[in-house]
Amino acid sequence: MNILILGNGQLGQMLGRSAVHYGHACLLVDTKTDQVMPVAAYEALPMSLQQAADWADVISWEHEQLAPAHVQICADKFLSPTDKILMLTDRQLEKQLCDDLGIVTSPWSAFQTRDELAQLLADTQQAVVIKAAQGGYDGRSQWRYQPGDDTAQILQGAGQQPGIVENMIPFECEVSLVGARNAAGTTCCYPLVENVHTQGILSYTLAGLSQLPAHLQQQAEQAFQRLTDELSYVGTLAIEFFVVGEGNEARLLVNEVAPRVHNSGHWSLSGCNCDQFDLHIRSLTNTPYPKQLATTPTLMVNVIGSSSIAEELWQDACADPYWYGKAPRAGRKLGHVNFQVDNKANAKGLARKWQSPLQKLA
Ligand code: ATP
Ligand code: MG
Ligand code: MG
Repeated sequence: MNILILGNGQLGQMLGRSAVHYGHACLLVDTKTDQVMPVAAYEALPMSLQQAADWADVISWEHEQLAPAHVQICADKFLSPTDKILMLTDRQLEKQLCDDLGIVTSPWSAFQTRDELAQLLADTQQAVVIKAAQGGYDGRSQWRYQPGDDTAQILQGAGQQPGIVENMIPFECEVSLVGARNAAGTTCCYPLVENVHTQGILSYTLAGLSQLPAHLQQQAEQAFQRLTDELSYVGTLAIEFFVVGEGNEARLLVNEVAPRVHNSGHWSLSGCNCDQFDLHIRSLTNTPYPKQLATTPTLMVNVIGSSSIAEELWQDACADPYWYGKAPRAGRKLGHVNFQVDNKANAKGLARKWQSPLQKLA
């Protein structure tokens, strides 16, 4: 099939690689310039977006911030209705959607204006996180507040645009469910993975090492099915959760939803018989999922702002480095390294060892 992907960053490139893996033709669109290019060739083809859309049998995206002009050209060949997908680019609509579906999230309130935000902060009895409704990623456009703090600075930043005020959750850990759904409504999900963030940005993911109570996987997959059914979603999607409580009392609160392949699924490139990009391409092309996803314990460490990956890691038989070919900048995701690991202690030791050499946040 001919597959067109909106976006040519690392997620688009890895989707393209997977499309080729399964014998499809794939073109990527730089959504800032509308230039069309083949996978892993950063030079544009003499082709308009309209021509690429005509060429494609199916169109998908690496990021859900779909421009109205692109939706207009591509919508016929998207497999999921974009009006619902676009709800997930606005935190107010996303939280409301979860509420409507009975999917539990952290308690929240919406504000439209600076005055409404000021009132919410004056009324709160507890620590909160303020998030802009639109546009934030990697912890950007977020502010923290607790009663007694000076509000002037927060109001100046957070009051500029509509947003939400969310209770600060004292979580045990953060996890995500990455999975896929096809047009027939069949789903295929990985086990929950554990995610550790530093300053709001994903630092590392532990996969296949979870000591989480089994009922949480069931709760996560139920939320996944309910949400993707509601969206008539086709492809890979990720849900980020907070785990609160322990043992039998443990439960999940949704943090946010990403209707696309996700950084917390990158471990699957090395640790599974079918990676998250393969799941997405299989979904788009109506190709069966594996009967079983066979997972090997894997640690994924992000390379953030660091201009290179140490030679030791290129030489390590247990390490699988990925480099995205982007210009280094502090706080920017430039690559990741997947490690084959034996156990959680070993994985945490490796994460601690490599976080500082591989991650320059500021
Ligand atoms: P992403 O890059 O994952 O899209 P984002 O910018 O959309 O990130 P969130 O996922 O909302 O941001 O928040 C980033 C991180 O900040 C979370 O993973 C978590 O560690 C912390 N955080 C966010 N909201 C809360 C909350 N309500 N309580 C506690 N911690 C929170
Ligand atoms: Mg987000
Ligand atoms: Mg997040």
